[in-house]
Amino acid sequence: MKKVSSFLVLGLFAMVFSPDVTEARSFDGTRATGGVFSPVYHSSLTSYSDSIHNYTSYYEYAEDQWTGVSSEVISSGTGTDTFMVGTTSDANTTGRMTPYNAGGIPASLDGTWATTQSVLFDNNIRSANFTSTNARAVAVHEVGHALKLSHQPDGVNSIMVQGRKNFSAIRAIDRESLINKWGN
Ligand SMILES: [Zn+2]
Repeated sequence: MKKVSSFLVLGLFAMVFSPDVTEARSFDGTRATGGVFSPVYHSSLTSYSDSIHNYTSYYEYAEDQWTGVSSEVISSGTGTDTFMVGTTSDANTTGRMTPYNAGGIPASLDGTWATTQSVLFDNNIRSANFTSTNARAVAVHEVGHALKLSHQPDGVNSIMVQGRKNFSAIRAIDRESLINKWGN
């Protein structure tokens, strides 16, 4: 009986304190090109853009945010990472990154990725009245996923937290996660 109650106390202690631990977070596995990513700016970027949202500029900003944080993360090569805009019937999401294996089949998050496709969902970005900063943050977040970064828990000061963000620049923990994944 005594052992049981002390276990419970330890369990509660861990539950209370573990959310404060901020740590680098990424998916396992690798990309066929490692930290080198190679953007393809899809034609949907211009067809969905107007005076409110310039999707090309959002992805250019995202590319710029991550490039060079690790010396292994550079933008180069032959077009492995597609940046695009679309719509979705899922009302709760403003962006999605899907990784693919060499056969063009969606890959597991912890597997080896041959290519990635990042999509910003124009209908939800507009219906939620996203500002350019809010929408730019989605692009940075999805490109972070394309570079193998995973979510940070709510409350952490990170671009990799889910939901609307009123900043779009990557944070210290995001730099740490990228370096932890790909090297200095
Ligand atoms: Zn995400």
